[in-house]
Amino acid sequence: MSQGPSLSKRVQSLKPSPTLATDAKAKALKAQGVDIVNLSAGEPDFDTPAHIKEAAKEAIDQGFTRYTPVGGILELKEAIAAMLKNDYGLEYETGQIMVSTGGKQVLYNLAQAMLDPGDEVIIPAPYWVSYPPIVELAGGVPVILETDPANDFSISLERLSGLIGPKTKAIILNSPSNPTGAVYDRETVRRVGELACEKGIYIITDDIYDKIRFDGESPYNCASLVEAAKDLCLIVNGVSKTYAMTGWRIGYLAGPESVVKACTKIQSQSTSNPNSIAQKAALAALTGPQDCIQEMKKAFQERARAFVDGLLEIDGIKCPRPSGAFYCFPDMSAFFGRKTPEGNAIEGSLDLCDYLLDEAKVASIPGIAFGDDRCVRFSFATDMATLNEGLKRIRSALNKLA
Ligand code: PMP
Ligand code: GLU
Repeated sequence: MSQGPSLSKRVQSLKPSPTLATDAKAKALKAQGVDIVNLSAGEPDFDTPAHIKEAAKEAIDQGFTRYTPVGGILELKEAIAAMLKNDYGLEYETGQIMVSTGGKQVLYNLAQAMLDPGDEVIIPAPYWVSYPPIVELAGGVPVILETDPANDFSISLERLSGLIGPKTKAIILNSPSNPTGAVYDRETVRRVGELACEKGIYIITDDIYDKIRFDGESPYNCASLVEAAKDLCLIVNGVSKTYAMTGWRIGYLAGPESVVKACTKIQSQSTSNPNSIAQKAALAALTGPQDCIQEMKKAFQERARAFVDGLLEIDGIKCPRPSGAFYCFPDMSAFFGRKTPEGNAIEGSLDLCDYLLDEAKVASIPGIAFGDDRCVRFSFATDMATLNEGLKRIRSALNKLA
C-alpha cells in the first residue's frame, strides 16, 4: 500500500471534540452490552416534539428537498427575527440573519470571517470545548479570561479590560454556560457590552441555552441591554437544545449585515444551505406551540437540584448550583493525589474521568477540556433513575480511592 503526502499541520495539531468523542465511546460501550451510565452527553434526552417531526415529514412529501438559499429560507429568517423581537425586544431585518448547520457552524463561519492570523479572541474559562479550536482553525489566538467558582464564574471587568489589546477582535460570552450552568447577571452583561463599545471589539454571544434558565427571568444579552452594542453583537443560537433537535443541525446568527454577509459567503463555499427539511422543522419549532420548552426545562431543573444535592453529600466535592443549561461542574480536586485499588495515582481530571469510566462505568468529561483541571463535567440530560444510579456509582468508586 502506498502512503499519501502528510496531512496539514492545522489538522495534525487539532484535537477531536472531547465531548463528542467521550459520548461516542460511552455509546459504543453500551452497544457492546457494558452497563454504562452516560453523563457525558451534551444533548437533551427528550425526543423532538411530534409537531416538529410532522413538519419535516410534510417537507419531504411536498418535495422540499432541493437547495435553498445559502443563508436559509426567508420564512425561517422571519421566524428567527420574530423570536428575537419577542424574547429580547430586538429588531433584526432578514438580511441580518443567517441559518447554518448548527450553532457550531455559525461559530466556525464567524471565526473564518473575522480573524486574520494572530488576531485574538477573549474566552472566559471554563469554556465550551470547541471555542479555542474554532478560533485556532482560523489562525486566531484564544486568550483565556480566568473566572472564579467562588464568584459564580462572573467576569471581572478589570481583568477583561487588561486582556483587550490591539489584536483583540472579540469576546465570547456563553450564558447559561456550558460547562458550569452559570448565568451572568444583567449588570455584568451590560458592563461587558459597554466595555466592548469603548474598545471597539465584537461580542459573540452564544445564547444556545437561553431558554433553559431556572430563575424564570426572560433572556438578555449585550445587544438587548446596551443599545450601542447591537452593531458589535453577534448572536449565536439554534434549535438543538431548546427543542431537543441536536441531530437536525440548525443554528443561526443575527448581527450586523456586513458580518452576516461575510459568514454567508463562507458558507456558500463550504456547506451551502443548511438541510432543507431540517429548516422546515426548525420553522415549526419556532412558530409552533412552545409548551414543550417549559416541560423540558422543568425536568432539567428538578434533575439539577437532585443531582447536585447528591454530589454535595459526597465528602470532598464542591459544586456551585447551576442556574441553567443541563450541566454541573464540580471541583473534585480533593481526590487528586489518591490511588486507585490497582495502585494508579489520580493526578488530574483526565485520570479521574478514566477511573470513573473503568471502575464505576460512569462517563463524564474531564474539566481540563473546558480549561479547568480541578473539575469534572456531568450532564444531567438523562432520567432521574439513571442520575441516581450514577450518583451511587460515583460515591462508591470515590470511596475506593486511598
Ligand atoms: N454552543 C455551546 C455552548 C454548546 O454547548 C453547543 C452544543 N454543542 C453549541 C454551541 C452548538 O450546538 P449546535 O451546533 O448543536 O447548534
Ligand atoms: N455541546 C454539547 C456538549 O458540550 C454537545 C457536544 C458538542 O458539540 O460539544 O457536550
